Amino acid sequence: MSEGESTAAGWYEATRVASPERPRLNFDLDVDVCVIGAGLAGLTVAREVARRGWSVAVLEAKRVANAASGRNTGFVLPGFQETIDSMVERIGLDHTKQLWALLEQGLDYVRRTIADTGMPGVDPVPGWLHISQTDNGGEIRSEVERLRWIGANVEAWSTERVREALPNKRYFGALHFPGAIHIHPLNYALGLAADAEKFGARIFEDTPAIAVDPAGIRKRIDTPGARVRAGHVVLACNIQLGDLMPRLGATLLPITTFVLVTEPIGPLLQEVVRYRGAVSDTNRADNHYRIVGGDRLQWSGRMRAWQADPRWVRRGLVADIRRNFPDLGKVEVAHLWRGTLGRAIHRMPQIGEIERGLWVASGFGGHGLNTTAMGGELIARGIVEADPTWRMFAPYELVWAGGMLGRVLAQGIYWGTRPIERIEQGLSRYRERSRTRKQVRLAARNGHDRPPAETTLPSGEPPEGILERRLLRALRRKSEPPAAPPAAPE
Ligand SMILES: Cc1cc2nc3c(=O)[nH]c(=O)nc-3n(C[C@H](O)[C@H](O)[C@H](O)COP(=O)(O)OP(=O)(O)OC[C@H]3O[C@@H](n4cnc5c(N)ncnc54)[C@H](O)[C@@H]3O)c2cc1C
Repeated sequence: MSEGESTAAGWYEATRVASPERPRLNFDLDVDVCVIGAGLAGLTVAREVARRGWSVAVLEAKRVANAASGRNTGFVLPGFQETIDSMVERIGLDHTKQLWALLEQGLDYVRRTIADTGMPGVDPVPGWLHISQTDNGGEIRSEVERLRWIGANVEAWSTERVREALPNKRYFGALHFPGAIHIHPLNYALGLAADAEKFGARIFEDTPAIAVDPAGIRKRIDTPGARVRAGHVVLACNIQLGDLMPRLGATLLPITTFVLVTEPIGPLLQEVVRYRGAVSDTNRADNHYRIVGGDRLQWSGRMRAWQADPRWVRRGLVADIRRNFPDLGKVEVAHLWRGTLGRAIHRMPQIGEIERGLWVASGFGGHGLNTTAMGGELIARGIVEADPTWRMFAPYELVWAGGMLGRVLAQGIYWGTRPIERIEQGLSRYRERSRTRKQVRLAARNGHDRPPAETTLPSGEPPEGILERRLLRALRRKSEPPAAPPAAPE
């Protein structure tokens, strides 16, 4: 892997479809809507505004989808970054259900757009498996109930079923979302841009907005070579918003994560990773993976609150693969890159009109593929049809993200929860082994050669006292649990 590849989204760039270079804006322009930022949020707004017959110009500082939208993991999932429990607590059950329904529309928007436009190179594959590494089958079942109650298409997978799809002793039960998909995100963004242009949208690359004057009916947007006048301005600049509007930009916490794609592994990969959908095995920014290009593994994780050099996390990511799938042997890294997303303190997107004619479409966090689709369409409808649905996001206001202290805290929480999770996971594996040993002894005493098959699966509570003794010992040593290998060096 060359040094240059560490900054480009290597695998996506290597497999991107042909797309034109768009011109720089060098003449003054008058439009109904000016969108700043050609990521998924801005492109969706532009496509939907143009489809409704209004004139729209998109200003992009670099190239279409050069940032988070063209370098993410490609999972199009239901759900927000915020948990259902916190949403219900803050906005109530009915409101949560309504937001969830909007989200499903976002997921559907992506699916429909891919199908309707026949976008090349997007390759949608169904399914998302969100695996637990602790033996919390009861919690998974109640989570499924809760999610179904608010309208999610989800099912519980048993430990046995998960391990059949992904033979990994660390894995227990899982939530399975059959309606989710994973895609080539850069080709999706390029397809959106092409389709928006088909409806009349104009996209200018290498054209940063350097000042916005939102006063008056016609707003002014300055670029280095020309000025745009527009009735509505949509700020879809993600974390770079701070360069244009520092106070607004300060409401986002930048989170950088890293994505790796291996060299071809061959048929062994499909034998070891039998599930074809997207997989996540933590609640954090770690271990999100899928098969790409038939025989390569894409793996992402290792969050940082700053834009660290991808080479610093390379060994850690490779160690994560090895820990989960030792049967793959040594994997070679073909591409490694980083991307930065913007997350609000309340972990919900920032969608809406902040002053007359000035709109924000931002803060989509780690669930940006469905929420940019939903948010983009809501804003276009808000602008063109005066549809007030976007106001459903009003409880999630623009809140200061804490500046440098916010970043330090985010990093501290990530680093702090890793060892705790590892201890919990180690305890789960210990409980499983101890239950199996006990069942073997019981079976031997009863004259069977081996325990009945179902009793070898983890279920029920641990023998009294063992968990506490083990936890105490693990905490006393302040190290990894006995069953887990040492933490990967980074
Ligand atoms: C590594 C990684 C993995 C991820 N994985 C997933 C995933 O699997 N599933 C999921 O749902 N989400 C995922 N996300 C999140 C998702 O990618 C983002 O939430 C989403 O792409 C945000 O889109 P956006 O349009 O708001 O921002 P961006 O894609 O960042 O686009 C903003 C654009 O604005 C431009 N811009 C900024 N300032 C200016 C200016 N002044 N003038 C002109 N242009 C400007 C930038 O150049 C950029 O092109 C991931 C993110 C990362 C980084």
